[in-house]
Amino acid sequence: ARQWTLREKPHADPVLEGANPTFTQGTASIPELQDGQVLLKTLYLSNDPAQRTWISRAVQPGRLYVPPVETGEVMRAGGIGQVVNSRHSTLKPGDLVTTTIGWTDYSVHDGDSVSVIDPPAGLAVTHFLGALGLAGFTAWYGLYEVAKVTSKDAIVISGAAGAVGNVAVQIAKKLIGCRKDFKKVIGIAGTDDKCRGVEVLGADVCLNYKSPSFKEDLTKATDGFVEVYFDNVGGEILDFMLTRLARHGRVAACGAISNYNRDSDPTALKNYFEVVSMRLQILGFIVIDGLHLLSGARAALVEAWQNGKLLLGEQAETVVDTNFSDIPRTWSMLYSGGNTGKLITKLKD
Ligand code: NDP
Repeated sequence: ARQWTLREKPHADPVLEGANPTFTQGTASIPELQDGQVLLKTLYLSNDPAQRTWISRAVQPGRLYVPPVETGEVMRAGGIGQVVNSRHSTLKPGDLVTTTIGWTDYSVHDGDSVSVIDPPAGLAVTHFLGALGLAGFTAWYGLYEVAKVTSKDAIVISGAAGAVGNVAVQIAKKLIGCRKDFKKVIGIAGTDDKCRGVEVLGADVCLNYKSPSFKEDLTKATDGFVEVYFDNVGGEILDFMLTRLARHGRVAACGAISNYNRDSDPTALKNYFEVVSMRLQILGFIVIDGLHLLSGARAALVEAWQNGKLLLGEQAETVVDTNFSDIPRTWSMLYSGGNTGKLITKLKD
């Protein structure tokens, strides 16, 4: 099997070319199947910003929610595989499953550790990595279970055009009905085009954080302050949002992509005292703590899709046809905003 392994943990952006790359491509033999196991051929890979944290030099042992990926190991990644050989009692060749696959084209798994995908008619399987997979569930879990958002809350959502963010916007507006002052689901994204798309999904307004007038625009949009900030990015936007939350406001601390490619946060929180003075709560969460709720949430999201309340059009995913040799390159698009919705690698060789 072909595979990409971690060669050296990066300090900054992963190095994709040159003499000292972060990852190297190689091959390994495929072990013989044991009872209960299946052989999967990789069809799609999930691209997740957090993969960068799994290869970070800065995170101390025991302070991550999964074991780090160590040098010499296959780069970890979720994905969709097709069963090509099975010694499992129920899984059979042809079945499509999701599991932690890794950057490899063939891999052996315990059949009991994979989940069979059976998409409703009209839905692409790739949504089981995106809106109906862990990304969409992260939005659902962060809104309902962590920040406990209700229709009385106004909310700001960063990373709003991304995999988690686009679902969060739609749940906040169309399922929860956040409507304080009649216009208070506010998205933040990195281009004007993305912002207009987020407004199509239901945001009352979406602001481009790269615009020179961003802070002014956000101040205006949050006039009267907001109860909740769903934070996908951390850094400066989080710092500024601390000044725009109402008393007792909540931050659903979902991610911090603005700093994943650094060993530490150079921006720091200049407005930290607002947490004290305004009695704010910063609620960190990891979605795997809520996995027992996944199937119920997925059923609710499928129903929302059927009722036209969850749009799964082109904004839901960016599927990139990718040669095996370009797997790291497609993944790295996450950090330059190259995706709208879930970034998915479709292996073409
Ligand atoms: P996205 O689909 O949102 O992809 C990443 C996006 O982040 C890019 O498209 C880009 O969009 C934006 N981005 C990149 N660099 C920056 C930057 N410096 N500042 C601000 N935005 C930036 O990824 P996901 O939806 O999968 O993940 C979103 C966040 O949620 C991540 O932080 C991730 O780690 C986190 N997460 C947390 C989970 C949990 O359990 N807590 C589970 C899953 C995800 P743009 O063009 O708008 O800049």
